[in-house]
Amino acid sequence: MNYISTRGDQSPKHFCDILLEGLAPDGGLYLPAFYPQVDDATLSRWRVVYHTLGYGELAFEILSLFIDDIAAADLRALCAKTYTAEVFGTGEIVPLRHLENGIWLEALSNGPTLAFKDMAMQLLGNLFEYELARRGEQLNILGATSGDTGSAAEYAMRGKQGVRVFMTSPQGRMSPFQQAQMFSLMDDNIFNIAVDGVFDDCQDMVKAVSNDLEFKRQYKIGTVNSINWARLLAQVVYYFAGYFQATEANAEKVSFTVPSGNFGNVCAGHVARMMGLPIARLVVATNENDVLDEFFKTGVYRVRASADTHETSSPSMDISKASNFERFVFDLLGRDGARVKALFEDALTRTGRFDLSQHPAFNNIRLRYGFDSGKSSHADRLATIKDTWLRHGMMIDTHTADGVKVAIEQVQAGVPMIVLETALPIKFAETIVEATGLEPERPLKFVGIESRPRRVINMPADVQAIKAYIAEKCR
Ligand SMILES: *Cc1c(COP(=O)(O)O)cnc(C)c1O
Repeated sequence: MNYISTRGDQSPKHFCDILLEGLAPDGGLYLPAFYPQVDDATLSRWRVVYHTLGYGELAFEILSLFIDDIAAADLRALCAKTYTAEVFGTGEIVPLRHLENGIWLEALSNGPTLAFKDMAMQLLGNLFEYELARRGEQLNILGATSGDTGSAAEYAMRGKQGVRVFMTSPQGRMSPFQQAQMFSLMDDNIFNIAVDGVFDDCQDMVKAVSNDLEFKRQYKIGTVNSINWARLLAQVVYYFAGYFQATEANAEKVSFTVPSGNFGNVCAGHVARMMGLPIARLVVATNENDVLDEFFKTGVYRVRASADTHETSSPSMDISKASNFERFVFDLLGRDGARVKALFEDALTRTGRFDLSQHPAFNNIRLRYGFDSGKSSHADRLATIKDTWLRHGMMIDTHTADGVKVAIEQVQAGVPMIVLETALPIKFAETIVEATGLEPERPLKFVGIESRPRRVINMPADVQAIKAYIAEKCR
């Protein structure tokens, strides 16, 4: 399988060439040159594979179609090592629970950090270690986080050979649980940096370091952000696993509602659907940061300024632009890289928006690609969390609540609607208490985490300071 850029660069690259990279050299995002097609017989075989051999083996089957530069036995071992009941809590890895009237919850948040990002990041940790050892190289991952991404990256990379993680976060802005999760890691290769500032200050520092090409090369700086193709690919697997649990035969269709921010999660659903998984609709659920809902309703994509980005009680969806969205637009516009480049490089940089409402492809969004959308507010989240607790005895987190609220509006008779559960309620306890008056349940391994010793340094929002820190730790 070759990978191409959404902005037109067609120079052939294989999976391991792009594994450790972020953007393509032309500024675009990588996508496979085509989507492998899954026929009825293969789908039936995979259904049996998932139910008998398990999630890791299903992951191997799917990943094999996109990866031709890792030996099959090695890839199979990497998948088996990643998706275990010890790491993800159950043998199903992503168990389905029925909520009501054809609405299901698919649990993606029983991994080490209790959010769905573990599903991909755990595999990425093993892939990075494998590929770096093969090349005899080292990598220093530099990132900025406001919560889930940073902890998922640290728990995936801790103790891995050849990798260090330098993770900046805005001092005092993450939930107490999220801070405790990250700062209690004692591994030698994990460095927590609490920055005096907001998330944007952290991100600006990371960008400034990455733009210093000499420093970047010398210290082998890399990232693990959500545009990484390997992360997206790993997420494709649970759309298949959800489908196999919700249906008995391949003639049945299902829909998914996906709590969305950077469009990484739902983009994996798009890939699954393009491969032939019988998905009726992909419903994008947003919070008050409704860039995506606005696009799917109006055809206008308008990125928000920092000042117009709301701080909400589903903070992992608080985005000003959706960094993976370009991948879908590439497919929507018939994979016309020049057109995508004109939209994302010229129009967006110049005016902060583009408008596809008059483009013939806009009608395809629903009809051909199955997309729909909805949004919710803080009041909606509180009501949904309370209602789900009172009527079903199930506690859901704030992001999942955004999904459930929209799923209830969009469910169609006869088509199971699977809501992706993207985090456990304990990560956002304050809002759960506000909604229900009760403290969410805490998995045993996190009891007392707030009082464990911490390993974190404080730093001003200063590019020189972080460069000096990285240089010192790499000596
Ligand atoms: C990251 C995250 C999201 C948003 O996912 P995208 O792939 O950015 O759309 C939703 N919910 C939770 C809990 C997350 O951590």
